[in-house]
Amino acid sequence: MSVNTFNKEINRRISEVAELGKYLWQKGWAERNAGNISVNIQEYMTDELREKLLPTATSVLPLDRAYPSLAGFFFLVTGTGKRMRDLALDPEHNSLMIRVTDAGDGYQMFSLGELVLNIHPTSELPTHLAIHEYLVLKGAKEKTVVHTHPNELISITQIRKFCNEEALNHLLWGMHPETMVIVPDGAGFLPYMLPGSQDIADATLKKFAFHKVIIWEKHGSFAIGRDVFEAFDLIDTLAKSAQIYFQCKSAGFEPEGLSQEKIAELKELSAKFLA
Ligand SMILES: [Zn+2]
Repeated sequence: MSVNTFNKEINRRISEVAELGKYLWQKGWAERNAGNISVNIQEYMTDELREKLLPTATSVLPLDRAYPSLAGFFFLVTGTGKRMRDLALDPEHNSLMIRVTDAGDGYQMFSLGELVLNIHPTSELPTHLAIHEYLVLKGAKEKTVVHTHPNELISITQIRKFCNEEALNHLLWGMHPETMVIVPDGAGFLPYMLPGSQDIADATLKKFAFHKVIIWEKHGSFAIGRDVFEAFDLIDTLAKSAQIYFQCKSAGFEPEGLSQEKIAELKELSAKFLA
């Protein structure tokens, strides 16, 4: 089963994931195998394609907990240990498709390339599935989850005074007017936790009730979007603000930032812009 045997919409999502891999690598946010991406492709899965794919499925692998609302759902996910720079060039061997079992407590894998599958989903799969389940239950338009290691945002969380949502968002909104327009809900902030654990998945999920992008202390970001580019734009916009902050500091001065009044004025503008 090769990429071009899926339907047009799914092929497009595979290409978009690969293209995002390129952006993340070019940004310098994807050292070695850092970062992971998933896309809910259930809406593009036709009965015909499902019938064609199911005989090629691997045996069932267990999940740490059940995701009943995702039972039978198909996702594109990046592979564990795979590099974003390789994903960009060769999505078939660096990402895969999974289907959550009918009971919701396991998954089967499908190759995007040749039938021999030598790849497993990202180790952050619990966090991705928890977020997708939340989005499905909410009936949200967002279908993609992106995790990456943006240097600028990680650096900000090395500064204790910015390790809370209020101070962090005040800083990021204050560095550039567009940040409020693009990320009006601000970033959720999650204190450091062990990556890949169910605890970090649960804590991240709670944050997505209020934000579309979450910053993990000293680690990186998680964002959701209708497509991978929308998720990327949220992280990129916040990263730009952080970059401006550090450039001012490197030039030897404390950036002034925008006042509370100006930030409030932008919030109003953003509400109109997004309405
Ligand atoms: Zn990470």
